[in-house]
Amino acid sequence: MEQAKPTLLSEIGEFGLIDRLTANRKMVQSSSLMGVGDDAAVIDAGDHCILVTTDLLVEGIHFNLIYTPLKHLGYKAVAVNLSDIYAMNAEPRQITVSIAVSGKFSLEALEELYSGIYMACDKYKVDLIGGDTSSSVTGLTISITALGTAKRDEIVYRNGAQTNDLICVSGDLGAAYIGLQLLEREKELFEKDHSLQPDLDGNDYIIGRQLKPEPRADIIQLLKDNGIKPTSMIDISDGLSSEILHICKNSDKGCRIYQEKIPIDASTAMMAAEFNIEPLICALHGGEDYELLFTVPLESFEKLRNMKEIHIIGKVVDKEDNALMLTAEGNSIQLRAQGWDGLLERE
Ligand code: ADP
Ligand code: MG
Repeated sequence: MEQAKPTLLSEIGEFGLIDRLTANRKMVQSSSLMGVGDDAAVIDAGDHCILVTTDLLVEGIHFNLIYTPLKHLGYKAVAVNLSDIYAMNAEPRQITVSIAVSGKFSLEALEELYSGIYMACDKYKVDLIGGDTSSSVTGLTISITALGTAKRDEIVYRNGAQTNDLICVSGDLGAAYIGLQLLEREKELFEKDHSLQPDLDGNDYIIGRQLKPEPRADIIQLLKDNGIKPTSMIDISDGLSSEILHICKNSDKGCRIYQEKIPIDASTAMMAAEFNIEPLICALHGGEDYELLFTVPLESFEKLRNMKEIHIIGKVVDKEDNALMLTAEGNSIQLRAQGWDGLLERE
């Protein structure tokens, strides 16, 4: 008998893998309101809900210690988890931190990592309540779990977008990705010639966006203060294109995004030009921006239009009308989770 060939993970991708590993599982606890498939899981705790999210950071995959100060790494590891709690319109409360460390790390190095972790805890008023510690064969792995709370009717999922809702994004996109390209370039130059000092002057913004992202607690507060509750929301960790498709898929909708409305900082565009990359590619597929992408009813337009940090970039349409981006020239392009052949071919 011929044995079935093992499936390569590269054939199914990250989301395909998660799907294959978790689909068809029925939850048996009535308190499990949301399991796999949103920014955080939601647990019914009586008069409120508890939200749980976890993220794993692996040296050599998610960070490179050549250009990532340990303090920044600690801060970022917390920030990206809190971002997932805010993306549910919830308040983060506690974190746990687990680390696996090889012999190359000293106590002082790990204290530096923790100083960043505590800095983020202080800023966002969360408590570190536990974790686990192990040795590792090589390098550093950090796993952080964040817990949050929200009233049940305040929680915003990825699946609530309605046809004609406005699609909004906070801040600007693509800077973290182009910041990473710059850090990688300087690292390679340094590796070739150790006498070279990194030339990062004038690029504080894009480098800061890569090394020290902030979860958008301020946007959640701003929306609350103005009585706006998004119909759906997600944080942008994998690029605008991938995240908008998550909202569309979970909400069973399509979308229209207008290219010229996508917020890109001038410093991102300038550095992208230096690398010969379309700034739009950084925004659509770069990732690690940790901005919020959300949909709101059309009635919120008047309130939103004057909010400097929020950009209306498109609208929700019926699923049959697809997920498209309209370019400045009037072309429509199918949004995809990765790579965007149409634009790349123009180079
Ligand atoms: P995010 O980018 O918001 O952190 P992910 O893309 O990492 O979310 O994960 C998507 C969903 O899949 C989440 O609900 C997450 O909890 C779940 N998930 C990811 N990896 C696994 C796994 N190995 N086993 C079970 N669930 C997972
Ligand atoms: Mg997320």
